[in-house]
Amino acid sequence: MSKIDLSLDEEKTLATTCLSANGCNAENADAVADVITAAERDGCPSHGLFRLPGYVAALRSGKVHGAASPRVERVAPGVLRVDGGGGFAPLALARGRQPLIDTAREQGVAAMALVNIHHFAALWTEVEPLAEAGLCALACTAYLPAMAPAGGREALFGTNPMAFGWPRKAGPPMVFDQASAAMARGEVMIAARDGHELPPGVGLDAEGRPTTDPGEVLKGVMLPFGGHKGSAIAMMVELLAAGLLGERFSFEAAAQDNKDGGPPRGGEFMLAMDPTCFGDEAWLDHTEKFFEKMASIEGVRLPGARRHAKRKQTPSDGVQVPAELHDKIVGLAQA
Ligand code: NDP
Repeated sequence: MSKIDLSLDEEKTLATTCLSANGCNAENADAVADVITAAERDGCPSHGLFRLPGYVAALRSGKVHGAASPRVERVAPGVLRVDGGGGFAPLALARGRQPLIDTAREQGVAAMALVNIHHFAALWTEVEPLAEAGLCALACTAYLPAMAPAGGREALFGTNPMAFGWPRKAGPPMVFDQASAAMARGEVMIAARDGHELPPGVGLDAEGRPTTDPGEVLKGVMLPFGGHKGSAIAMMVELLAAGLLGERFSFEAAAQDNKDGGPPRGGEFMLAMDPTCFGDEAWLDHTEKFFEKMASIEGVRLPGARRHAKRKQTPSDGVQVPAELHDKIVGLAQA
């Protein structure tokens, strides 16, 4: 596959130009382009430029409001509600971030309910700044039904990711961010595009038979990681992001989605906790010892370490983008 070299600045400009040409105002285009650029920088291409055609489809069909102006409201001492105004999630998240940090510091615990948003990104970009601010943080969101509950062959759950961040004394925070599917759907799409086989256990074909062919899994159904255990996590995500917030479950989102290929309307749940309000003053040194112990075990690395290593290696002039994708985006920006 031929590739094109782009600097991070060029990559962000390409994303911003494409989003602006398709109906995003400057603030929304910038917020979405930031998360796309961060994904490219950290070696997560399934949430980088690869997502732009989906964002554009949702703007062109009129499903997503490119000039949405999210509103943040404190609805209880420790609860913030952000109405995304029918826009993409990144601007709603950006506007809610500092109020969430301030409220967590004031109350010890703060939750944020993001509603009326369209989420199409990786979640680590959302918990990492909270952990950098000294908070431990959790985020989760549902999507469109793509995954069968354990024992079933029918899609009900989204691939429902969950991210968790923990502050470190030095260097970037520990962040894990994982789909509750055996593999994120974006990765399956990339495997289908690149002609790669999947490991066993990722999904079933349209007849409900196990398959390692990504194209067949995309026509059939994905499976949760770890059988009934991943299924329970995916159910919890549906309950937090939809049941708790009064937003759409994945199956409800699908019933009301126009199937333009872009993200459906949904909700996101976030929780931030200030460790200084819970344990003793030595909490940071104490958890550092735990991380050191963990990382000292042969064969073990901390979640997020791959991304942060990639971030260090990525020079400001250094991401490679498939030429076909680049040309497609250039075309979308001109249309
Ligand atoms: P992965 O399985 O690639 O990784 C999950 C987590 O495990 C990462 O934090 C990763 O850290 C860590 N990890 C991986 N290998 C190891 C290892 N050997 N030891 C320790 N930790 C490890 O991610 P997924 O495929 O599950 O998800 C990919 C992305 O897709 C996520 O960012 C998620 O938010 C996003 N997503 C978004 C959806 C949406 O609706 N918006 C839906 C579903 C997924 P590291 O990055 O350092 O490798």
